Amino acid sequence: MSLGRIGKGVKCSVSGCGQDAVRSLSADKVRVAGLRVGSERRAYLCKEHYKDYKKKTKKDKQVEQWRYKA
Ligand SMILES: [Zn+2]
Repeated sequence: MSLGRIGKGVKCSVSGCGQDAVRSLSADKVRVAGLRVGSERRAYLCKEHYKDYKKKTKKDKQVEQWRYKA
């Protein structure tokens, strides 16, 4: 299974988006980050949603750290 760059013509998997996808990721990870993707194993993200995904995973890590401190 290879993650990373994807071919042309693939659309973002986030519901209601439809932009050209630039990255493919495990759909589970994307769901954990709070993005709405279908039930496929692989999720394709456009630039904007990939940014979103990265932002949200960062936040989650911070929250986890706070929890462990408490
Ligand atoms: Zn998108």
